[in-house]
Amino acid sequence: MKPLPPAKLFFWYYFVAIVLVLVVGTISSVFTFKKVSDVAQETLLESANMMANLIQTSNFTLFSGNESDLANPAYISLKDRLKKIPETNKDIRFIYLWGHREGYPYFIIDSEPENSPDYSPPGQIYEEATQLDHDMFLKELPPSVEISTDRWGTWLTALVPIRDSQTDRLVAVMGVDMSAHKYLEVVYIYTAIPILVTIFVLALIVVGFILTKREQKFLKFKSELVSIASHEIRAPLTGVSWLANGILRDTDNLLQRQKEDISIIKNKIDGLIATINDLLEGAATEKINKKSLVKSRINAQKLFEEITKDLSLIFEERKIKSIIDASITPEISILGDYDRVKKMFVNLISNAIKYSKTGKTITIGLSLEKEDYVFWVKDEGIGIPLKDQRKIFEGFFRTEDAKKITDSGTGMGLHYVKQIAELHDGEVWCESELGKGSIFYVRLPQI
Ligand code: ADP
Repeated sequence: MKPLPPAKLFFWYYFVAIVLVLVVGTISSVFTFKKVSDVAQETLLESANMMANLIQTSNFTLFSGNESDLANPAYISLKDRLKKIPETNKDIRFIYLWGHREGYPYFIIDSEPENSPDYSPPGQIYEEATQLDHDMFLKELPPSVEISTDRWGTWLTALVPIRDSQTDRLVAVMGVDMSAHKYLEVVYIYTAIPILVTIFVLALIVVGFILTKREQKFLKFKSELVSIASHEIRAPLTGVSWLANGILRDTDNLLQRQKEDISIIKNKIDGLIATINDLLEGAATEKINKKSLVKSRINAQKLFEEITKDLSLIFEERKIKSIIDASITPEISILGDYDRVKKMFVNLISNAIKYSKTGKTITIGLSLEKEDYVFWVKDEGIGIPLKDQRKIFEGFFRTEDAKKITDSGTGMGLHYVKQIAELHDGEVWCESELGKGSIFYVRLPQI
C-alpha cells in the first residue's frame, strides 16, 4: 500500500487525474464518433458506387421519363434488379434514379414494388429533393452523402451521378437510402464504448478519492486518540513510578526480594512511560508544519558524533561498533531543525542497534547527489522482508521478526522519521535483505 499523500497534494492529484480522464475521454469519444460515422458513410457510398456500375447506363437514353416506360422491357428488367437489392441487403431501404428536366427533378425508376404506398412512378416530380439533390445535376457534383428527412423518414443517402458511357453526359443521379436511425445506432454504439470507459475510470477515481479521504480521516482520528489516551495514561503511570522510587529509597523496612520486585515494577512502568512519550512525541510531530521548524546550519559530522556519544552506553552494552564513514567530511552541513533532524537520525541508529545481534557493526555514511545529500545508516541486523519495506513507514507497523526480538516498540518511529524528512523537503527509504541487514537512506537538499 502506498503512503497517503498530504491532504492538499492529495486533492490536486485527484483533480488533475479527473481533468486528464475527462480530456482524454472527450477526445477519444469525438474521434470515435467521427471515425465510425465516416466509415459508415464511406461504406454506403462504396456500395452505391458498385450498384451504379452494375446499371447499364446506355438504357437510360431509351427511357422517356413517364408512365410509358412501364411497358419498356429495359425498364422492367432494371426494376426487377433494383427490387432485389433491398431484399438481399437489409441495411438499404430505397434505391431510386432521378433525372432533371425544366428545372424539376423527376423519378426515372425506383426499387419499390408497384403496389407499395412508397412507390414513385416514372415521371413523378421528386418534390422532396434537397438542395444537394438539385446541385448534383446543376453543379454536376461528385458522389456525395447526406442526411435528409422526407415524407418516408430520415435517411443517410448516398448520391451517385450516372453518366452515359458513350457521351459522358450526366443522365441520372442514383440515390441509395439507409435508415438514419440504423446508421446513428451503429455510430452511437461505438461512441458509447469510450464514453463508458471514461465513466468507469472516473467512478474508480471518485471511489479512490472517497476511500483515501476516509483513510486520512481515520489516521487523523487514530493519532488524536493515541495522543489523548497517552496523556491520560502517562500521568497516573508517572505517579506510580514516583511511588515505586519512594518505596525503594526506604531500604531499611524492605526485604531484598521485595526490593527486587519493586525494581522490576518500576522498570516496567518506566518502559511504558518511554513508549507513551514516544507516541506523544510522534503525535506532536504530526502537528508541526514547515513554518514551525526552527532551522539552522547543522554540521553533519558533529551531529553524528554527538548521536553516537549519546548512544555510547547502548553501543557498549550490545557490543556493537559504530563507524562514521569518511564520506561525512567536516564541511558537510545541512539546513534543518536541529532537534528534529537529530531525533530522525537517533531513531534510525537506535533501530539499527535494536534490530542487530551483539558484535555487529553499524556504519553511517553519505552519498553525494547533484543537488542532494543522501545520508545512510547501514546495519548487519535481521533485515526487513520486501513486502514490508513500505509498510514500516506508515505507522503502527512492526515486522514479525522484530516482534520476536523485542516486545518494546510502537511501530511509529519510522513514521516520524518520514515526516521529519518530508518537512525538510527530503525523503526516506530503505533497502534490506532478510538476515543480512538493512540500509536506511535519508535524502536532504544541499544548502
Ligand atoms: P519500532 O518501535 O517497532 O522500532 P519503528 O517505526 O522504528 O518502530 O520501526 C518499524 C518497524 O520497522 C520495526 O518494528 C521493525 O520491524 C522494522 N525496522 C526498523 N528499523 C529496522 C532495522 N534497522 N532492521 C530491521 N528492521 C527494522
